[in-house]
This record gives sequence, structure tokens and C-alpha cells, in this order.
Amino acid sequence: MTARNGDRGDAAQPLGGSAPARAHDAPASGLDDLVVWVANRLMPARHDTVSEAIADVLAALQRFFAVDTVFLRRNDFERGLSVLIDEWPRREQVPDPDPLGEVPFDADPIWQAARSLREPFVMRPQDADEEYQRRVQQASGVGDVSLAVVPLHEGEETVGVLGLIMFGDRPWTDDEVGALSAIASLLAQARARTNAEQQLDHLARFDALTGLANRRLLLPEVERRRADPRSESFALVFMDLDNHKHVNDLLGNRAGDEVLVTVAKRLEQLVRGSDLVARLGDDEFVVVLDGITDEDRAKRSAERVLAEATASVTVADHTFRPTASAGIALSSSADSVDGLLANADVALHQAKAEGRDRAVVFDELLRSNEVARRDLQLMLRAAIDEQQLELHYQPEVDLATGEVLGVEALVRWNHPHRGLLTAGAFIEVAERSGMIVDLGRWAVAEASRQDAEWRARMPHLATETRVNLSPLQLRGGDVLHTLAVCQTHGDVRGRLSLEITEHAVLQDVEQAIRVLHELRALGVTVAIDDFGTGQSSLSQLKRLPLDFLKIDRSFVRDLGRDPADRALVDAMADLARAFDLELIGEGIETQRHVDQLLEVGCRRGQGFLFAKPMPAWEMELLLWHDERLLPVRSGWSAS
Ligand code: C2E
Ligand code: MG
Ligand code: MG
Repeated sequence: MTARNGDRGDAAQPLGGSAPARAHDAPASGLDDLVVWVANRLMPARHDTVSEAIADVLAALQRFFAVDTVFLRRNDFERGLSVLIDEWPRREQVPDPDPLGEVPFDADPIWQAARSLREPFVMRPQDADEEYQRRVQQASGVGDVSLAVVPLHEGEETVGVLGLIMFGDRPWTDDEVGALSAIASLLAQARARTNAEQQLDHLARFDALTGLANRRLLLPEVERRRADPRSESFALVFMDLDNHKHVNDLLGNRAGDEVLVTVAKRLEQLVRGSDLVARLGDDEFVVVLDGITDEDRAKRSAERVLAEATASVTVADHTFRPTASAGIALSSSADSVDGLLANADVALHQAKAEGRDRAVVFDELLRSNEVARRDLQLMLRAAIDEQQLELHYQPEVDLATGEVLGVEALVRWNHPHRGLLTAGAFIEVAERSGMIVDLGRWAVAEASRQDAEWRARMPHLATETRVNLSPLQLRGGDVLHTLAVCQTHGDVRGRLSLEITEHAVLQDVEQAIRVLHELRALGVTVAIDDFGTGQSSLSQLKRLPLDFLKIDRSFVRDLGRDPADRALVDAMADLARAFDLELIGEGIETQRHVDQLLEVGCRRGQGFLFAKPMPAWEMELLLWHDERLLPVRSGWSAS
């Protein structure tokens, strides 16, 4: 053990007893020159090199003053200790533990004095009282010592002492003591400056809330491991809490933060020594699991991490389990740290798409999907600009009479190589890349324009045109701007209806309520699309100004086959009645669907049984002839 091991705070790097001190260029005489030399030696020191500079200074002092020992100690007020920072020369044999390493202030009056020393203190053998001599004799084996101790000040506080010891008698001149005081103050300054630097450095590299490493610390470390052929393979787990925003919204940001801190602590406890844990952003964490080469093990390990990190928590008097999703990238899957993160991110999206609360490993299939997705994204941008998009229309009918009550505009992409693509093939890409905003603006404007054109030709047309809205269009209130533009082609009142999903509403309920009220003021009706697939609570729906509920086709599909689905649809019908909303059945493919929907009181619907989505000209013919889409069966009551 070296003399410095007790002093973690200042010793950034352990120095062995034989570490060379570069004090040879220090002046051998001239007190002023010495002080200047010390200043120059300390000035460039940073927190990771200051120990070395201090060692040089102590060595130079020892030579200059021709004393036996020079030491520097700092006060640790929290622990009530005087701590040895360094000494010169280093002792040959230091007992473990070192009796001089950390000494409690209350060990004896000398240490007590070191705690609050304000003025330099010098002593020669003849000045010392008997008790003191005895102590020195005990500690050093030498009876007579001369001593000069100068305090290091930081403001009003004595933060440490610089001491010189000479065995035998030695006088201390005022000039010498003055120079030592100047040097002590340089040491104190260097210490304060490098401590501040270290703190700033810490802040820049660690997350203030959880104390975990942040992105800035994590990325170079991951890159180092990835690039080092001697390092083990690892798995990078990119983890994201599901619905953390809801916790913030419902229980407050303080509670949200508490959840993050709890998860961070659990992650730290979970991992082994060489693993890494970091917080990348809001509710995103990265765990690097060392020594993992295959996908199965990576998945199992990540699942264990997820399960343990998201055990139930109690915050703000609520106990719940904060689920999380994770995407995993093996170190072999990319040749840069950015590539690894991107792969883990793709896998994370997949985990979310599969229903959250799970871990997915980035593999070859995901890679090819991702490549295809990126191609699609690039081409979609061009498609929007080059007007390869068009709207198709699917009629919505009165289930009892077959009369066309409305049309739903569904975007189609006339892809130069792949032919006509339905929305399902590219909407998600548009959504994830943000292009949905431009696409959605265009769709609303085009549907309004088409509607105005139809009305010009068919003045008695009473259909409503429904257009799908993405969460992003709802979020910034973007749709209101789009509608303001549409109004210039004609009033949309009573003609336009917008469809939003439960999911879109739940992202920001307050904002959704504001936008929906403004839509209503413009005379635009609103339908909740894919109803039943989200998790909106009744109380939230009650606050929204809505007109229609579209029963998701997954419920319609099993109607008449699965009693549970019938029960759910019955419940939706009750809900619709309670809130005075009209039901629309989606994805109607069989007569049985129609019968069941009518039974539960749903009179409107759309689906392949009546018509598939069709180009505008075909829809126009249908409207022109005022066709009934389902001949009323004998025995049906049209009432
Ligand atoms: P959605 O709004 O629920 O639209 C209904 C989807 O079901 C359409 O798919 C339609 O073609 C399909 N469909 C209709 N009847 C049946 C049926 O009987 N059986 C089956 N199996 N499917 C049926 P599409 O056109 O691929 O659209 C998928 C989704 O893309 C839409 O779901 C909607 O959420 C979104 N979308 C479409 N156009 C737009 C748009 O202009 N803007 C935005 N933001 N989203 C759009
Ligand atoms: Mg829709
Ligand atoms: Mg739908």
C-alpha cells in the first residue's frame, strides 16, 4: 500500500513509492524563484494530473529547505479526519493501515489544531512541551524535531495543511514562512480549481437525476469495447419504459422521476462488474451486458433485466408495475457504436410494435426489414413530392337499407415498381419518419377538394367524407391550419369528418380536447377509429367531443362466432348510447356480421361485403347513380 491510498478524493491515479518527481528543474535557492516555480508547476495541472504536480512540489520543497519530510494533508470535515494527500520522500515501509493516512481530528490536540489552523505554525525542539516531544518520539522514533506547518485556506475554511519536518534543530525565517504560506495558497487554489473541474466533468458525464452514466460517457466506452479485439463480445440492451408519460401525467413529474430513480437503482444492482448502465434520455436506459455472443442468451438476459428492473413500485401512494420494452443488439451486429444503437433502436420499435413489455433481438430478418423500410422511406418522400399518392374511397352504408351515408378516404401509393400500395404497406413508415404530417395535410386537402368537386356536380349529395388523422397532426394542432386552407375551397361544415385513434387521443388528452373542440366549432365531426384496441378509460372518452365510434374490425371479424366478442361489442354499444355517439362497424365481410351488428344497434358500417376502397371516379359513379349497396333481404325490416 502506498501512503496515498487512503486519499481517494485527491489521488486520481495511484502513485507508487518510486514514482519519479520532476522536481529537478526547481530552483535550489531564492525563495521568490521557488514560489514562481511552484506556481508554474501547478497552473497547468488538471484534476487527473494534479497529484503528480503536487508530488513534484513536495519533492522540490524537501530539497530546497533541506528538511527530512514534507507532507500535504487535507481536512475531511464530513468524516472528521485529517487525510494524507502525499508526502516526500515517500516512506519505505508503510504499515497497513497507515497510522498517518487518516487521523481523526480528535486524536489529540495537534490534529485538533490542524482542523482550524489559521496562521502558520513553527516550532523548534526547545519550544515543544514534554507531552509533544513524547508523541513525536513515539511516531517518528526521533526525539527532537523542527516543524513548520502552514494552513491551506478556502475562504474562511482551513481545507488542509502543508508541513515540513526536520529532525533536529532548524530555525525558520519569516521569509521562509512567508514563501511557504504563498505556496500553501497556490496549493489550495489548485485544489479548488481541479475539484471544480472534476465536478463539472462529472456533471457532463453523469445523469443528474439517477447518477447513472449519460450518453457522453457511455458512447466512447461502448466504442472502445467494440473496437478492442481483446474485449469480450457484448449485448447492448436499449430499454424504454412503456407509458412513462402516463405516469408523469397522472401522478405528476415527481412520481415519474421516482420511478426512473428506482429503475436506475435496480439496474445498477442487477449488472455485474464489467457491465455498463446508462440513462440516455427521458425514460431510456442502456445496459451493456458483457460476455454475450448469442441471440438466445442475449434475449434471456435482457428479459431478466427487464423483469427485475420493472418489479412493482410504490410512488405517490400508488403501487403499480412499470413495464418496459427492450431492443437488443449484439456487438457483432454493427461496426460502429452508432450502428449498434440504431440496431437496438430498430429492435426496440419491434418490441413496441409486438405489444410492449418484451425484449426483441436485432437479427437478420429485422435488418432486411429495416433496409426495406429505409428504402420505402426514401421513396415515399419522393412520392409525396411527385404526387404519386392518391385517395381511394370506401363507402359507408346504412346496414339496413344499403344507402351510402359516407365515404372514407384512404391513401394509396402508385408505386413506380410495386404498383398500387394500400395504406397498410407504408403508413407506419410515414408515421415513424414524421412524413405523415405532410402526407396527412395533403390527404385532408385532397379529400376536401374532391368533396367540393362532387358537390358541384351533385348538389343534393348528403354524404360525409371521413379522413384519417395521424397523432402527429393532432398534436401540434396542425390539422387546424390545414382546415383553414381547405375552407377557402368551400365550407366543410357537415361534410367533413375526421377519424382519430384512441392511441392518438391518449398521447395528450388535454391537447386532443382543445383541438377537437375547435374542429367541432368548424362544423367538422369526429370519429374514434379502431375503437377497442386502445386502452382509453371511459372517464377520458367522456371528456372528448366525439360523434362516432368505429368498432375495430378485429371485433367485427369474430361476431357470431365468439361470444366474448359479442359481449364486447354489446358493451361498446352501451357506451355509445350513454355518450350519444353513433356506431360504425368496420371490416364487414359477411352477412352474419351485418346481422350481428344490427342486433346490437349498429346501423352503419363499411367493409368488403359492400365495396372495397375504389378510385374517386368509380366512387363518383356510385354516388351519381345513388346505388344501394346491399339489396335488402326478404324478411328484413328497414325501419
Ligand atoms: P382504417 O382507418 O381503420 O381503415 C380501414 C382499413 O381497413 C383500410 O385499410 C381498408 O382498406 C381496410 N378494410 C376496409 N374494409 C375491410 C374489410 O372488409 N376487410 C378487411 N380485411 N379490411 C378492410 P388501408 O387502406 O390499408 O388503411 C390502413 C390504415 O391506414 C387505416 O386504417 C388508417 O388508419 C391508415 N390510413 C389510411 N389512409 C390514411 C391517411 O390518409 N392518413 C392517415 N393518417 N392514415 C391513413
Ligand atoms: Mg379510418
Ligand atoms: Mg379503423
